[in-house]
Amino acid sequence: MSSPEPEKGAPRAATRIFFEGRYRKLVRDLPQTIFHCPECRGRGCARCEGFGKLTKDSVQELIARLAMPHFRAPRHGHKFHGAGREDVDVRMLGRGRPFVFEIEKAREPEASLEELARLVNERCAGRLELLDLRWCQRARVAEVKEEQHAKDYGLLVRADHPIDVAPLRERLLQRVVLKQRTPERVAHRRADLERERWIELRAIEVLEPDASGRSSRFSLAIRSEHGTYIKEAVSGDAGRTQPSVSAWLEAPCVCEELDVLDLVEVGSPRKEFGAGLPSA
Ligand SMILES: [Zn+2]
Repeated sequence: MSSPEPEKGAPRAATRIFFEGRYRKLVRDLPQTIFHCPECRGRGCARCEGFGKLTKDSVQELIARLAMPHFRAPRHGHKFHGAGREDVDVRMLGRGRPFVFEIEKAREPEASLEELARLVNERCAGRLELLDLRWCQRARVAEVKEEQHAKDYGLLVRADHPIDVAPLRERLLQRVVLKQRTPERVAHRRADLERERWIELRAIEVLEPDASGRSSRFSLAIRSEHGTYIKEAVSGDAGRTQPSVSAWLEAPCVCEELDVLDLVEVGSPRKEFGAGLPSA
C-alpha cells in the first residue's frame, strides 16, 4: 500500500469531503467509533497494553482503513458521525444505522464511493456492511446526529429460575411508558436524570419450555421509543427503571443478547439527499 501521507509540494489541493450511508454491524465485539482507553485516554498504558484503545477495530476504523488510501487522505484525518449508537455488544441489523463519514484532506476526492463500499463489504464480510453510500454536505452531520428513531429490538432474555411468561403475553402490543433513571452503568459519565420512554412488547417465544410450559430462557421482540435503555427495561436496573420485564414477571431477568432489528421511521417521510458534491 502506498503512503497516504501528503508529499511535499503535492500539486493537488486537499479537499474536505463528506459522505453518508447506513451501516450494518453483524458482530458483538465492535464499537461504533474508536474506543479510547479510559485510563490513559489514548496515550497508552498498562491496561490497554500500550495501544491507547480497548478494541482493535471499530466501525469507524474499518471504514477508515480502506477509505483513507482510497481518497489519498492522511491516515488519521477522519470523523464518524452516527445517528445515535448501539452498545459494543449489540448487533445493528435490518437496513442499518445512518452515519456521515468526514475526511479532512482528500487528495483524490472524486474516487468512487461505490468502489469504496465494495472494498469495505468484501474486506469486512461477516462483520460490517455499508449500504447506500452517497455524497453529502456538511449540514448533514447535524441532521443525522439529531435523527430520532423508534427501534425494533430482538432480545434473548434469561430469568434466574423457570417462569411462566403469561404476564408478558397479557401486555403484548400495548404501549407502556417506563420511567428510567440514568442506568448505573453509565451514571459515571452522564447526569442522573429520570426520563420517560415507551416500549411495546411485540412477540414472545419461550425457549426450551418444560412440561408445564415454564422456562428460564425466552426471546422477545420489543419496539421502543428513541433513547430507551433497553437492557434496563429488562433487568429493571435495581429499581431505577419502572416497570420492567423483571417486575412484570416478579423474577430477576437479564438481557443476554440484543440486536437492533431495524430503525422505525416515525412521522415525516424520509427526506432524500445525495445529489451533493464533495464540499470544501
Ligand atoms: Zn490505556
